[in-house]
Amino acid sequence: MRPPSPLERRAYSLQSLANQTFDILVIGGGITGAGIARRAAWQQLNTCQVEQNDFASGTSSRSTKLLHGGLRYLEQFQFGLVSEAVRERMSGYDLAPHLVRPLPFVFPRYKGDKPGMTKLGIGLWIYDAMARFKSFGKRQRLSAEDLQSRLPQLRTDELKGAWQYFDAQTNDARLTLEAVLDAEALGATVFNRLQLENARRDGDAWVCGVRNFDGTVLEIRARRVAIATGVWLGETAKIFGATDPPRLRPTKGVHVHVSDERLQLDAAVVMTHPKDRRLMFAIPVENGVMIGTTDDEFDAVADEFDVTTAEVEYLLDAVNHYFPRAGITPADVHSAYAGLRPLLDDGTCSSSKVSREHAVIEIAEDVWGIGGGKLTTWRVMADDLLRAALGSLQSGDYNERPLPGGRGIAGREQLDNSIAEFATAHGISEKAATTMLFTYGARADEAIGNCRETIGSLELPVSALTYAVTNEHALTLDDLLRRRTRLYYTEPDQARSLAAAAADAVAPLLGWDGDAVQREIDDYTAMCKRYDG
Ligand code: FAD
Repeated sequence: MRPPSPLERRAYSLQSLANQTFDILVIGGGITGAGIARRAAWQQLNTCQVEQNDFASGTSSRSTKLLHGGLRYLEQFQFGLVSEAVRERMSGYDLAPHLVRPLPFVFPRYKGDKPGMTKLGIGLWIYDAMARFKSFGKRQRLSAEDLQSRLPQLRTDELKGAWQYFDAQTNDARLTLEAVLDAEALGATVFNRLQLENARRDGDAWVCGVRNFDGTVLEIRARRVAIATGVWLGETAKIFGATDPPRLRPTKGVHVHVSDERLQLDAAVVMTHPKDRRLMFAIPVENGVMIGTTDDEFDAVADEFDVTTAEVEYLLDAVNHYFPRAGITPADVHSAYAGLRPLLDDGTCSSSKVSREHAVIEIAEDVWGIGGGKLTTWRVMADDLLRAALGSLQSGDYNERPLPGGRGIAGREQLDNSIAEFATAHGISEKAATTMLFTYGARADEAIGNCRETIGSLELPVSALTYAVTNEHALTLDDLLRRRTRLYYTEPDQARSLAAAAADAVAPLLGWDGDAVQREIDDYTAMCKRYDG
């Protein structure tokens, strides 16, 4: 008998919803919802999670992709947030070393800059102290001469020196996905493309009406509900009858990727924007540099955004101020993305100063919502919501449980040391082996199978696409190119020229005929155009 296709498995899972009452239904498939579902499933609660689009399609794939405490928040005296986050960035590494890369940050200082070198050094000492001096490396004072050899394109006039410190870079979409997959491995029933539409109370449970991507409507019964819908929190709370739903104050953040032909970095550079003095980053990524971010009030809630010419210019102004010889123009931008910060409105200050701290809010009987927070603090957020919902949390080895790809991986050196062997064993290049190991970690063998055919400049084995459909809930071309893989970011044309090949590779698995393949390509191309700037 042939094994069921991914869509048949999904249909079976959807059918089984009718026969159960879940202990908890988690709404939202971003990092917060994924964390809650994982923690709840670990506690052996019968858990269901629903996401209206794709896992991580909201803010959780549109961040700066740092696990960090955030120096900016230290400047704003958000000490609670910073100390929680600097500790969590280390745990993030332990759980998923394949997805978390320690990264040096260089913070240059010029004549007249505030804070100057001494005050910045004290700030970084406090930053390290909050992490109880557990970091990925020692902070270090660099002279102007050190900087000239380290970052030869950096502007040198009136350069005083810099401080180097360490945080970590991650793949936010795959971190979220692995938390979802782990929740599933622990027994949770998880769905992307299943949208909560309505809810009614029935005895001691909530009956939630959800819509499948094919238009079918189903009901899910649960004793408790956790709302982790990020910027949609207020809207979701209304579905549960909240008359005074939590107010959010979203801000839009844009990032751009520029090719490494213009700018090469071996460390992230902290920049102060020449116009408004906001802190920003230029961060090395696979084949270039990512520059971000903006932080502007945005009073709508959206899935996709237009990135404006003004936003791109604002970002390039900063990087060209620091690296004038790079001469980066909008033509060098090969991809962009934007997301909304789900900040809770405390009604007081300007957008960039609104607290990033999270809060758990009781929405209705047996319904809790969570807003604010950061990618870095996802586990703390999940614990706080569940503590409110359950009264207490079970202890045990939860905190040490790695994400699926992190199992048995002691650290990145272990992966580095196995690149050559993995390449030989699978008959692929070391570049392809590196991509596989630092995307799938312990699951790399399973994800590559017997495949040797590759796609894209990082030589990604095509099996990554089919694996995403059979094992990682990918249902659309967009899921594949933007979140299961990073082809959207790593290819100079947002992977538009690879879209047809990628769609063809998965069409038999998803039952796409020629028209469906064309629709996927058209949808993907239309999405790309919105980010053209
Ligand atoms: P989301 O990821 O938005 O998830 C909510 C999900 O709920 C969405 O996927 C949505 O589709 C779903 N949903 C909504 N309504 C429904 C419904 N009715 N039914 C089913 N599903 C529904 N944090 C860091 O730690 N480090 C960083 O470097 C960093 N950089 C950032 C940069 C920017 C520009 C932004 C915007 C944020 C950044 N953050 C960072 C913050 C971090 O990304 C967010 O706090 C986090 O991703 C929010 O996750 P979430 O799960 O709460 O929300």
